[in-house]
Amino acid sequence: MRVFPASIPLDGRTIILAGSGFMADAKARLFVNSPARLKWFTGRNADPVPHDLAQVAEVYDREPTRSDLRGATLVFIAGGEPRFIDRLARRARRRGALVNVVDSPAESDFQVPAIVDRDEIVVSVASGGSAPVLSVDIRSAVEQVLPANVGILAGLARELRGTVKSVLDKFDDRRAFWERALRGEARDAALRGDRAAARRLMLKTLNEVQPEKTGIVHLVGAGPGDPDLLTLKAARLLREADVIVHDRLVSEGVLNMARRDALRIDVGKTKGHHPVPQEEIGDILVREARKGQRVVRIKGGDPFIFGRGGEELDVVRAAGIDAEVTPGISAALACAASAQVPLTHRDHAQTVTFASGVVKSGGPDADYETLAAPNATSVFYMGVGAAPQIEAKMLAAGRAGATPVMLVENGTHDNERRILTRLDSLADTVVRERVHGPSIIMIGETAALGQVTAAAQTELQETYA
Ligand code: SAH
Repeated sequence: MRVFPASIPLDGRTIILAGSGFMADAKARLFVNSPARLKWFTGRNADPVPHDLAQVAEVYDREPTRSDLRGATLVFIAGGEPRFIDRLARRARRRGALVNVVDSPAESDFQVPAIVDRDEIVVSVASGGSAPVLSVDIRSAVEQVLPANVGILAGLARELRGTVKSVLDKFDDRRAFWERALRGEARDAALRGDRAAARRLMLKTLNEVQPEKTGIVHLVGAGPGDPDLLTLKAARLLREADVIVHDRLVSEGVLNMARRDALRIDVGKTKGHHPVPQEEIGDILVREARKGQRVVRIKGGDPFIFGRGGEELDVVRAAGIDAEVTPGISAALACAASAQVPLTHRDHAQTVTFASGVVKSGGPDADYETLAAPNATSVFYMGVGAAPQIEAKMLAAGRAGATPVMLVENGTHDNERRILTRLDSLADTVVRERVHGPSIIMIGETAALGQVTAAAQTELQETYA
């Protein structure tokens, strides 16, 4: 560690800023939402001070005198002649202030880190002045994972700290309380921006002498496999889960985002072979939530697209357990993006339909009249085994044999394959290309616009080029 990121309380402190122009403005802006008093000495003939900053700073059109520097905690010097800078820095230090000469680490007592400001929670990223651009990029990454309203939560914690201490005198009890208050329903309310509800829930938690733990089941979409395609919310829920119930389709990369000590239950299904029957999955979700756990039921793609998410939700709700659903990027969307097949196109497809190649035995089939309509893209899930039937039914319903078909196997995974063929060769192509992995089959003129790794019928590309 080459620099130490200390944090300086700003309540009742005075900050001095000398200079004007955009660099001075940027420093002034750091303190806009702080309780510190900002005294800004622009000097004579200065650049104008932006209106919003003039509202919050005390602005003087001269240089700071010795007495101005008295009691200052931090002094920022933004520009000026070297002699002026030197003199001001010496005077400030003599009065006990720390000095920052903007853009000059060598002359500064401290550097300004890249800051994520969430009121009570402040994250600073420091590079010791050696790579500010890198710090800014890291800050952006942190901004994304830190919920916008986390400051509300920290503010409430500060407000209630005294009360909690007076109610719970054992350290362990207090810690248990904070773990619940800062991770449970109150936290959810605060992150939604509902401060009043969060406060009420925290106090309720405090009043429950022997609080009964209430669990929750989150039905979460894992996307197609590439962890980059996970939503920020899904990543957060994974990190916070006590129990993770997952499928075979959920990739290791996604599961690795979970806490190490979270309990993982694999209920993965392979086609025709169900290691854990659907009813039992429901039982597991209910059982774990009843223990007061935060259960994440994570499913490939989106939970509501051919994922039986609706059935699991029914079971959980029927047991009186709270359930929430977080969407994911469904395989059709991920595979279309990966193969660059626009699912709709003003010239070629006015509608897009998602269908399953496999239906419940004895249940109704998809409507092939609709699926075979012209000017439409039809996207099949679970279509590899059913390729001969899909081909036959689409042709019988009137779709032309030459209709382009894009098949994407293992979309977004390292072994992704994209194969372009035509409708009357679909079943043959699946056999010839030995397609076995999870695949999406897109049928329609738009399929020919995609990018392939293998064209089963190269003349097709020529036709549509
Ligand atoms: N809920 C999932 C679909 C589950 S059904 C979703 O929204 O994506 C399982 C089918 O999804 C597979 O048979 C296959 O058709 C498709 N699928 C899932 N992941 C896929 C991937 N990475 N590439 C191609 N198809 C995939």
